[in-house]
Parts: sequence; C-alpha cells; structure tokens
Amino acid sequence: MAEQLLGKRVAVLDKGWIELIDLMPHPASGISGDLAIINAARVSFLGESKGPQRDKRLLFYLLRNRHTSPFEMVEFKFRVRAPLVTWWQWVRHRTWNMNAQSGRYTPFQERDFYLPDFWRKQSSDNKQASEGLLAQQADADLRQKLLAHYQEGFRLYSEALAAGVSREMARLFLPGFSVYYTWVCKIDAHNLMHFLRLRMAEDAQYEIRVYAKAIYEHFFSAALPWTAQAFQEYILNAD
Ligand SMILES: Cc1cc2nc3c(=O)[nH]c(=O)nc-3n(C[C@H](O)[C@H](O)[C@H](O)COP(=O)(O)OP(=O)(O)OC[C@H]3O[C@@H](n4cnc5c(N)ncnc54)[C@H](O)[C@@H]3O)c2cc1C
Repeated sequence: MAEQLLGKRVAVLDKGWIELIDLMPHPASGISGDLAIINAARVSFLGESKGPQRDKRLLFYLLRNRHTSPFEMVEFKFRVRAPLVTWWQWVRHRTWNMNAQSGRYTPFQERDFYLPDFWRKQSSDNKQASEGLLAQQADADLRQKLLAHYQEGFRLYSEALAAGVSREMARLFLPGFSVYYTWVCKIDAHNLMHFLRLRMAEDAQYEIRVYAKAIYEHFFSAALPWTAQAFQEYILNAD
C-alpha cells in the first residue's frame, strides 16, 4: 500500500495538486509508519513489535494520552502547487520545512492563476468565514471579470518584462493572492496532525482546507491507518 503512495499526485482546486515525494520510514524498508511509531515508543524498555493487537492498543494509548514524540518518527515530504492565498496560510505553520519556487528565477505563465468554480458569500456571524454561494448569474459575471483582471495583470507583467524590468519587480503587476506557486515541504506525523486539525476544520479557508483534506484522505490515512483511526477518534471527534 505505502509503495503506491510514493509519487502519487492528487489534483486540488482548478490547477493545483499535491504529490508525495518521500516518506519515512521508506516503504522499501518493510516497516510500516504505524510500526515505526510503536517501535520508537517501545525503545523506552528496549522492545519492539508485540503483534498487531497489542501494537495497535499501544498506539491508541499513545495518542489518547498525548505521548507525542513517537509520532515524530514518521515524516512526509510533499510537492505542492497551490495559489498564494493557500501558501500564506500554510507558512504560518512553523513546523513544516519548506523550499519554494522563486518568481525571481522563473517567469509566471498566463494559466498560473486560480479561477474558483463558485463564489462563496461573506458569513454573517464569522468575520473570517464564508457561507453559502452567490446566485448563478452574479457568479458568472464576476468570474468573467476575474478572468479579465488576470489577463490584464499578465499583460502588464509581460509588458514590463519586455521593457527590461527585472522578474522580481515585474511580478508586482500580477494579481497577488491568486497566482499558483509550487513548493516542497516536509513534516513529521505529530506536527502534521496539528496542521490537519486546524486546516481541515470548517473555519479554515476552503482554499487550504481542500489541500489539508487531500493530505489526510490520500496520504496520511493510507500511510498510517491506525494513527488515522486514533486521530479521528481522540482529536477530530473530540473537537
Ligand atoms: C482558522 C484560522 C484562522 C487564522 N487567522 C489568523 C489571523 O487572522 N491572523 C494571523 O496572524 N494568523 C491567523 N491564523 C494563524 C494562527 O494564528 C497560527 O499562526 C497558525 O494556525 C499556526 O498554528 P501553530 O502556531 O499552532 O502551528 P505551528 O507553527 O505549526 O506550531 C505548532 C506548535 O509548535 C509550537 N511552536 C512552534 N513554534 C513555536 C515558537 N516559536 N514558540 C513557541 N511555540 C512554538 C506551538 O505549540 C504550536 O502550536 C489562523 C489560523 C487558523 C487555523
């Protein structure tokens, strides 16, 4: 199962994706992520696996009682392509290690902008949140306007480049929140659960929630089935 996860890419939003590029323990090691956690915990008394039933019970005990360090023995490395609005929320989580594409090296492409499928309305009781969708006609009109805005921004960007302006300055013409960015990032399972708890929650912005859910459903649950079960039971359900 874990072998098939390496290199797997999941589409997110209109042009984004997330891909698992590395995993520790490596699937070729023959040790599952759940077992790596259990073995790390058992080093306290210099032991290892005691069979599936006792191993699973121990793992649930660890998570229930917030014995967090064994969960740091598993690491995920992703390549992510997402709009900048997602990036700015993601980088607030200091426990990720990250390297990002640079607009100083690589020119942006015209198709590099996020075009939402629908417009969410402002929430009436939560200043940060959205709720419900705009009526279809207004939705289509705004979509056209956004597209025109992207085209104009990109035209000005290209014009500035053609006039000899540096890439680092020409990008000031681009619509900042919507441009797609690519980055590589790594995190351990303990800190990933913290990220997932905050960013899969209903009050997280949709544009990061879909990435967090993709990580949880396609990679985390598949690489760590017991941990995912315990995380669901003791952390997500408790919320
Ligand atoms: C719905 C939502 C709305 C938000 N709105 C805003 C907003 O309006 N404005 C805003 O600025 N931010 C906002 N944030 C970001 C939020 O304040 C946190 O910065 C972000 O969620 C990262 O959380 P964290 O610090 O727990 O995670 P991480 O940075 O991943 O850290 C994980 C944990 O490690 C520990 N830790 C890491 N670094 C340190 C350190 N240097 N010192 C002490 N402990 C550390 C802490 O226990 C921390 O909880 C929002 C987040 C969410 C989920």
